[in-house]
Amino acid sequence: MSDLYSRVVNSPPGRFVAPRVGLPQPAKLERQAPGTPVVAGAVLSGAAPGGRLDKQVERLLGEIGAPRPEKSDSPVKALVFDATGIADSTELVELQRFFHPNVKRVQTSGRVVVLGTPPAGLPARAAAAQRALEGFTRSLGKEIGRGIAVQLVYVAEGAEREVESTLRFLLSPRSAYVSGQVIEVGAAVAKTPAIDWSQPLDGKIALVTGASRGIGAAIATTLHRDGAGLVLLDVPALAGDLAKVATELDAETIELDITEEDAPGQIADRLSGGVDIVVHNAGVTRDRTIAKMPEDRWTSLMEINLSSEERIDDELLERDLLRENGRIVCVSSMSGVAGNSGQTNYATSKAGVIGMVEALAPELAERKATINAVAPGFIETQMTAAMPIPIREAGRRMNSMSQGGLPVDVAETIAWFASPASTGVNGNVVRVCGQSLLGA
Ligand code: NAP
Repeated sequence: MSDLYSRVVNSPPGRFVAPRVGLPQPAKLERQAPGTPVVAGAVLSGAAPGGRLDKQVERLLGEIGAPRPEKSDSPVKALVFDATGIADSTELVELQRFFHPNVKRVQTSGRVVVLGTPPAGLPARAAAAQRALEGFTRSLGKEIGRGIAVQLVYVAEGAEREVESTLRFLLSPRSAYVSGQVIEVGAAVAKTPAIDWSQPLDGKIALVTGASRGIGAAIATTLHRDGAGLVLLDVPALAGDLAKVATELDAETIELDITEEDAPGQIADRLSGGVDIVVHNAGVTRDRTIAKMPEDRWTSLMEINLSSEERIDDELLERDLLRENGRIVCVSSMSGVAGNSGQTNYATSKAGVIGMVEALAPELAERKATINAVAPGFIETQMTAAMPIPIREAGRRMNSMSQGGLPVDVAETIAWFASPASTGVNGNVVRVCGQSLLGA
């Protein structure tokens, strides 16, 4: 989809004029290209005294061949700061000591990752100090600019070894449009297998609903790139489009309306050999204010966006078809986080998806599987291209990246959740919204 504004302000005359008249200047975000390293530049790491993740960070940076900066003032592509040692508010000054001299060194489309300990269960002072990291990272994300993404990763004590897949994702161009997020990495739900990072989903079977176009087609393409075998589902009316995507990706198809009474049974029958990854992407909007909302408009949306997902999960779990180290990944929305005028039905359904993820995470962990959700913000698709221009422009600019995301940004986040190495990532809701100004 065309973002004319970005093209104009990034042209030579636009680059001259935009900063002088105070217009936002969206940076060109780097995205994952085949054969490129995890981080295309130097990485500087630091730690507050007493941190417990230095070994993991050092090992990972060695494994991915990330060079250290040559000089104390040379540019870096990423900063990683281990803040797990901070146990009191007086020690938060360690953030200032590390970031003040280094923040300007981060290159365009770079990365900042702060590592902490989940506050829940810590003594009060340590909990307050660790919770304070959220305010720091969210503010840094808003002030740093130049397409640089900033995240906080809480790593539970004892889960140090599980942080690798998350760090790889957050340091790489795969997380181009994810910023201002707080991610929790906990105990592994299953044994982490040895993994080929170039084909992490090799041998896995993934079901993707709503796969004939938009975000669903991007999810299918990305999971295929990572080695998964695909079963792609969409409504019978889109069978032609679905077949096109499936032919390109060597996938099987299911032409089915997921709200049909026997849909869960039909899907389970087709997956009778088991499934590793279930991506609930199919979704619709049926916008009206609640005062103008007829019941059928409310009900049909709720059926597609939430109730049918619950029934499909129930069927797959009841028939024990989700394999060990399996994944359920749901597609929620920023509307489900922040609410949106004219979208009471949509936001209700998407907040319900978040509730489903939170409620099912412990059960899935017992089954040695995980469930997580992405909550996209403004993504350049047919859906957003059809918005009136003022709403579309507001959606594009009102975030730390000053631009819309691409379907591949949602897909990359799902691929990270889906990775067999993300076995400590359970019950998370990660927004893919360029750190939208709306919502937490
Ligand atoms: P899209 O282009 O409309 O694709 C959704 C697909 O799901 C369509 O092919 C759609 O078919 C299918 N679908 C709808 N109802 C179905 C049903 N009952 N059974 C099976 N398939 C069904 O939408 P998108 O923009 O790619 O969005 C994908 C997901 O991301 C949705 O859950 C959406 O809510 C979420 N999302 C999108 C954005 C964004 O900015 N685009 C932002 C936040 C969240 P039909 O033609 O029949 O509808």
